[in-house]
Amino acid sequence: MKTQIIAAAVCSIFAAGAAFAAPVTAEGTGIGKHGDVTVAVTFDGNRITDIKIVKEQENPVLAKKVYTDLKALVQETSSVDVDVVSGATFTSKGLLDAVADAAKKAGVKLAKADRRALAKAGKSIPKNSTYDVVVIGAGGAGFSAAIEAKNAGANVVLLEKMPAVGGNSLISGAEMNVAQNWVQPKLGITDDSPELHAADTIKGGDNKGDPKVINVMTHNALDAAKWCRDYLGVRFEDDNLFFFGGHSRKRALIPFGHTGTEFISKFQAKADELGIPVITGMKAEELIKDQNGRVVGVKATMAGEEYTFNAKGGIVLATGGFGANPEMVKKYNPAIDERFKTTDAPGTTGEGLYMAERAGAELVNLSYIQTYPICDPISGVIELIADSRFDGAILINQEGKRFVEELERRDVISQAILAQTGAYCWVLWNDKIGAISNTVTTHPTEYEAFTKQGIMTTCDDLKCIADFTKIPYDSLKATTERVSSMTGKGNDKDFKHRAGLVDLSQGKYYVIKAVPSVHHTMGGVRINEKAQALTAEGKVIPGLWAAGEVTGVTHGTNRLGGNAYTDIIVFGRIAGKAAAEAAK
Ligand code: ADP
Repeated sequence: MKTQIIAAAVCSIFAAGAAFAAPVTAEGTGIGKHGDVTVAVTFDGNRITDIKIVKEQENPVLAKKVYTDLKALVQETSSVDVDVVSGATFTSKGLLDAVADAAKKAGVKLAKADRRALAKAGKSIPKNSTYDVVVIGAGGAGFSAAIEAKNAGANVVLLEKMPAVGGNSLISGAEMNVAQNWVQPKLGITDDSPELHAADTIKGGDNKGDPKVINVMTHNALDAAKWCRDYLGVRFEDDNLFFFGGHSRKRALIPFGHTGTEFISKFQAKADELGIPVITGMKAEELIKDQNGRVVGVKATMAGEEYTFNAKGGIVLATGGFGANPEMVKKYNPAIDERFKTTDAPGTTGEGLYMAERAGAELVNLSYIQTYPICDPISGVIELIADSRFDGAILINQEGKRFVEELERRDVISQAILAQTGAYCWVLWNDKIGAISNTVTTHPTEYEAFTKQGIMTTCDDLKCIADFTKIPYDSLKATTERVSSMTGKGNDKDFKHRAGLVDLSQGKYYVIKAVPSVHHTMGGVRINEKAQALTAEGKVIPGLWAAGEVTGVTHGTNRLGGNAYTDIIVFGRIAGKAAAEAAK
């Protein structure tokens, strides 16, 4: 209100055409990905002389360029008519809207951007350079490879096509399965083993994974986790583990904050400390082979310019999967069509797979694509706040009826949701369930953002939930009464809820709308136990290693929760070390 009064006064000064008005500062707000972005902008006439970020809660890794480069550009051009930072569209818009809002409040009319002022000087990267190891893709696999290669004595460079590092590894929940980890004994788990972890993984992927590769993953998991904890400084919860579906033991370590930000920020800090150049905005286009068939480099582009990176030891391909490429998803699995959005980072578009294929690698298991059932209908991201489902939240359709067992496999729930009216569902829980998982307090930014989007609400009673969701009240009441009459393990006559339903007769209630989204692509480059890329005949392609979601033999038909992080770190490290050795 105060700002508005100031703004009104300033507005009349400008309207009167006063040439010598003093600089004025006004606050403005826009909506980012995780809630409000508030800025204080100082204007001197129509020129922006300063922008301060007052409040924001965006992902620090993804938002970095928005608050540095984009902010500087807005100030330099005194305009919000500039391009958003790709990969951080929501945060960029939040900042631009906030500045526009401040301008409006200050009565300032911002200019259309001068396109010439936007032309940025190209970075001083040589057009042709030679390294021992070139790593492509700065997610968890790529960082692991680059750091290990450097520590094995190699001169290494890490190329990333997006403006920010992290890929899917950043936005993931980042739990990491490790048999015989240091938390298990505290929870009384003393009978886990890498063999058991491997057996669970093979079975969970319907025997389509490569047992040799899987065993390397599970037997190196503990060492990889200790490397993350002791060498990189990744902090894990000390007294808690996740128990994902398909595992016979509770074995997933949980990073602080329950996201990949904890890993990626530590990876970036270690790369900085070791002096590894991480070139963002550099897109690998084509692998280069010599006359003997060895991969010896990569052609890349940045802002339309071509660059060549020669690799004496070899290339580590760590470009992730193809979940954010809807055409490619549909091509390999026509059932996953345009109805699906994606949980994935925008750089997850799969061209790395084709690059490997053109270099002779075999691509396998491409039709195995995992969807996650409970995601934001607007952005496609996972609704972590709805993890209350693991503690008893129910899924209901627009008619107010349950339609699937809430703890079924991800693909089964996804298909069931698509069969409902509007191809969405509502997740409903109450304080009794909230008291166990506390997802609303664990994910306050989600709560704020989803509420603002109008897909989530909190109510004291069911009538209010019915009004918000437009579900017929009588049906909603009947469903919750029936659920409350069948609580406890073994009592759900309708859908056999395996953990047992929870009493829903009392509020406070929480409800959120959800749809399934593409989450993980299991297929990719065929590799061996040493992370070497293989041809269809099973021959090693010299000079080419691959690690992480770009590979296709670890997870079979279905990746078990918590196995992606184990996979990327174990094989990223193996690939980086081996490529460094090959350069000697
Ligand atoms: P993983 O979990 O296997 O490490 P991520 O999705 O976390 O996979 O990381 C893969 C990274 O590779 C992403 O940051 C993505 O933007 C990047 N990437 C994908 N394709 C290319 C490419 N052609 N050139 C450079 N980087 C790429």
